[in-house]
Amino acid sequence: MNKYVLALDQGTTSSRAIVFDKSGEIVSVGQYPYEQIYPQPGWVEHDPEAIWETERMAAAEAVGFANVPISAVGITNQRETTIIWEKETGRPIYNAIVWQCRRTADLCDGLDEKGFGEMITAKTGLKLDAYFSGTKIRWILDRVPGAQERAERGELLFGTVETWLIWKLTGGKSHVTDYSNACRTMLFNIHTLEWDKELCEMLNIPMAMLPTPVENSALYGEVTEGIPGLESLAGVPVCGSAGDQQAALFGQACFKPGDAKNTYGTGCFTLMNVGEFPARSASGLVTTIAWSIGGKVTYALEGSVFNGGSTIQWLRDGLGIIGSAPEVNPLAESVPDSGGVILVPAFTGLGAPYWDMYARGAILGITRGTTKAHIARAALEGIAYQVTDLMNAMRKDSGREISVLHVDGGASVSNIMMQIQSDLLRIPVERPKVVETTAFGAAALAGLYAGVWESLDEIAAAHRCDRVFTPERPAEDCERDYRNWKRAVERAQNWAEK
Ligand code: ADP
Repeated sequence: MNKYVLALDQGTTSSRAIVFDKSGEIVSVGQYPYEQIYPQPGWVEHDPEAIWETERMAAAEAVGFANVPISAVGITNQRETTIIWEKETGRPIYNAIVWQCRRTADLCDGLDEKGFGEMITAKTGLKLDAYFSGTKIRWILDRVPGAQERAERGELLFGTVETWLIWKLTGGKSHVTDYSNACRTMLFNIHTLEWDKELCEMLNIPMAMLPTPVENSALYGEVTEGIPGLESLAGVPVCGSAGDQQAALFGQACFKPGDAKNTYGTGCFTLMNVGEFPARSASGLVTTIAWSIGGKVTYALEGSVFNGGSTIQWLRDGLGIIGSAPEVNPLAESVPDSGGVILVPAFTGLGAPYWDMYARGAILGITRGTTKAHIARAALEGIAYQVTDLMNAMRKDSGREISVLHVDGGASVSNIMMQIQSDLLRIPVERPKVVETTAFGAAALAGLYAGVWESLDEIAAAHRCDRVFTPERPAEDCERDYRNWKRAVERAQNWAEK
């Protein structure tokens, strides 16, 4: 008999919901965008009630259209985004402060000056940064009159987005956070799997407001009765959750140490499963909890490329050499190589392993023979080189070989870029049939608890491959090109004046 799982995929710009069947096929989708609030330059907020309302409507649409019995509900979410609400009334005391928001950068500088950076990295696996929730909580408690005292009295609750959605779905019965989200708060010790007293004291955050950390495939509660549009879900277990990047790693069936995934979106997000020991990075990568299931924790190394698909957007909007993103592929394919041109897409600096905020974009090796086709090809190569840099850092930091790179995201449809990626990494690059890997990961975590899938092997079987790219170009040529990329990066580094 077929069985069905509902995944709630709460993203930064829209709330989505997808019903999957046991074979991993999508049965129905609901989606609603919602408002981005920019109170000041560099500040980003969401209305927590809008997050819930749009997610509820998306779920109602997906469930209504599918018209099948749902066995379990799983959640995946934008990570680090911070919400504080009243325990008694459920009313948020401030807007959600979104992961991108830089308003606590000064607070982070202050912590850095006091020498907290090393302790934070040792305990949390993170770099001290305004992305993570801890300083955002501090900011709200400082900003809203009386909030600190109320939090100390246990009257206020903190949650990242999955915590908020689970609380709403269970009618306020369950105040939990899954490990993959908890470890993005800068308050959670990834070795002891507990909120860390010293970190909470560092930010003066009352531990009474923190949710209970739970595993990623476990019973969090049941959907409460009477949620408009979701009446048919009453009593269905909410039993799987993971932050978006970890959910994608799970949805890509990267279950073994050495399995890795890259999402080619506007930026690129790379995660590598490093097994049960939290590898510490020497290259500026973050160590994170991928998931914990049945008492067994799996860790991952994580890195990101600031400019991935945005490089293709720049060819379209900045240079005007293509009319739309898909046009980059035939243009790049019209030449056998980039003719020695290297494009370093450091438009906004470079992340791991360089961490150079003063690097800027560069196109090197231009000759009179250079055409727009060479530039287009160099742009795709520039994205693939950056992912190669991350993967090489992961190889070094984990001491493991990467067996296969699983890919997803809007730009992963580019066959030529995937071929270039495989040539550079010298490993297979595998693209799945169902590219909704994040939502599928959430569904798989919930379905594993509810018995829709009996084992990780069954989940891996539901994750079907569209195409595998294997190395074709001679290794020596790729190595030479990669050396030239490194030389080009050196020239792009430290360019903007401080
Ligand atoms: P995000 O979730 O970050 O908004 P997506 O996963 O939707 O991003 O991917 C969008 C990116 O994919 C865009 O930057 C665009 O340039 C790129 N893209 C879209 N279609 C193609 C294509 N056919 N070939 C190459 N790149 C593409």
